[in-house]
Amino acid sequence: MRKMSNNLAVLAVVGCAAAAAVVYQQAGRTAGVGSGPFAGDEKRQQMNYSKSMYDIAPLPRERVAELAKKLDAETYRVTQKAGTEPAFCGTLVDNKKEGVYCCVVCGLPLFSSEHKFNSGTGWPSFYREFDPQHVTRKRDESHGMSRVEINCARCGAHLGHVFDDGPKPTGERHCLNSVSLKFHEKGTELPPESRPAAFETAYFAGGCFWGVEHYFQKGPGVIDAESGYMQGRTEKPTYKQVCNHDTGHAETVKVVFDPKRISYRRLLEAFFVMHDPTQLNRQGPDEGDQYRSGIWYTSDEQRKTAEAFVAEQAKSPRFAGRKVVTQVEAAKTFFAAEEYHQDYIAKTGGVCHVANPW
Ligand code: FE
Repeated sequence: MRKMSNNLAVLAVVGCAAAAAVVYQQAGRTAGVGSGPFAGDEKRQQMNYSKSMYDIAPLPRERVAELAKKLDAETYRVTQKAGTEPAFCGTLVDNKKEGVYCCVVCGLPLFSSEHKFNSGTGWPSFYREFDPQHVTRKRDESHGMSRVEINCARCGAHLGHVFDDGPKPTGERHCLNSVSLKFHEKGTELPPESRPAAFETAYFAGGCFWGVEHYFQKGPGVIDAESGYMQGRTEKPTYKQVCNHDTGHAETVKVVFDPKRISYRRLLEAFFVMHDPTQLNRQGPDEGDQYRSGIWYTSDEQRKTAEAFVAEQAKSPRFAGRKVVTQVEAAKTFFAAEEYHQDYIAKTGGVCHVANPW
């Protein structure tokens, strides 16, 4: 959920049906809102994505155990038992190739050749991490020394230690065990576990966008939901133009999601719980073609899934005797709605006719 704008003063709050009559005073715009996924760092962190957009949700212990089974004895000793390989023996000490160094256990990128330097210690050394959020630090008082241990943020694998005698600009020396790392040379294809999260976008029109946006935003695996206008004839429509039926747009919610965490099919199911797909050009108290029911697909795969889903729902007992009128169309341009429509329910504490599907 995006952060509420401090400058937004709602002078009057009424129900969805009378949206056009709501009077607002808007003095500013929250930075980043409407600029796509992750309008705020807060939401990104809540969802466990790093700044460089990798999934860094800590892996469950059972998953780590499963991955660790595939390691050879030395790699297991170092990564799972905080061991240290002998100096000058690791395979990556003298590696000067360009590329990325990933966790040998879970594949998360941890260091880059860009930041590698010759420390003369006999262990691969870097002056910074690929992304600081990919490497965690903890105090290590073992072996009569006071050091800072570094671990993979996703799977907890032991990597080595970090010292404060490195070169500029950080002054840090990340001292690594070669066996903790898997090197991928620049230009080679990275395995899926070493790639950033790939998000997908879906669009749903189900009446007033306030409630639809509110509940999609709560969906597990949904990165961001945003209110806007779509499938009309004009560019950059305003709320007033859409209300006057001048443009043919439908109030639409753009949903950016991680398909690894939630499926498109699950979003469709939620959408059909949220709104009534048998109401033609209206939804709850709101009337007009801007409140039509629609699924605007962004890929052929989405089209197939949406068409099959709508056909299946049309035959389900839930809609017996009533016609499902949901349109399935290729997505045209999405125009973000005015700032005062974004996160409306969260900002105002208002209620909508939309049902919670989660
Ligand atoms: Fe890892």
